[in-house]
Amino acid sequence: MKSEAPALLVTETFYSLQGESSWAGHPCFFIRLAGCNLRCAYCDARYTYEEPGVSRPLAELLAEAAALPSSIPVEITGGEPLLQGNVYPLMNGLLEQGRTVLLETNGSLSLARVPAEVICVMDVKCPGSGMADHFDPANLGRLTPRDEIKFVLSNRADYEWARDFLRQSQPPFGGLIHFSPVIATLPPADLAAWIIADRLPIRLQLQLHTLLWPDRRRGC
Ligand code: SF4
Repeated sequence: MKSEAPALLVTETFYSLQGESSWAGHPCFFIRLAGCNLRCAYCDARYTYEEPGVSRPLAELLAEAAALPSSIPVEITGGEPLLQGNVYPLMNGLLEQGRTVLLETNGSLSLARVPAEVICVMDVKCPGSGMADHFDPANLGRLTPRDEIKFVLSNRADYEWARDFLRQSQPPFGGLIHFSPVIATLPPADLAAWIIADRLPIRLQLQLHTLLWPDRRRGC
């Protein structure tokens, strides 16, 4: 019996500028996989789990990426990309192309099988998301200093929670740390003032894509 070619459920692929992390502003090819195991209160990508996604062969996704200049990084995002087992051959195939590969993940699923060359941008979910209990704390020990972590903050209580989380983390995370406000509930200037007052060694992150394209709901 003929075995089926490996495939992934994909919400969309697109070429744009990176909107988050230290790669913000860099041209990037995005592969957004369908499905998410969380339901964050502020989610702006509900279509990744409210719509079924399209089954696309792994080879086709790799060929789409291969058509781009080798200097263009690829971000695998979601939803939660680690829900799909074929994300691992996808990451390995992109690395074999010699590409920088970014993985945006919500922090709830183990990073143990993610290839070391992949740059993880991992969320630590705060209480305002309603999903803080889903974080896998062992993931902090699986990151390296080239990875990055991100806290999305809805209010002052989230800020204090994230600040205390970092102060208590042992050993402290050695990579870049981003605090990103939910603009609808937390004015960025307030967050900036708190970071300065507390002398926190973190970066304030504003989502570049929502500044550039405030009315666009996907493909950015
Ligand atoms: S993890 Fe991301 S995609 Fe999933 S519900 Fe939360 S914000 Fe939305």
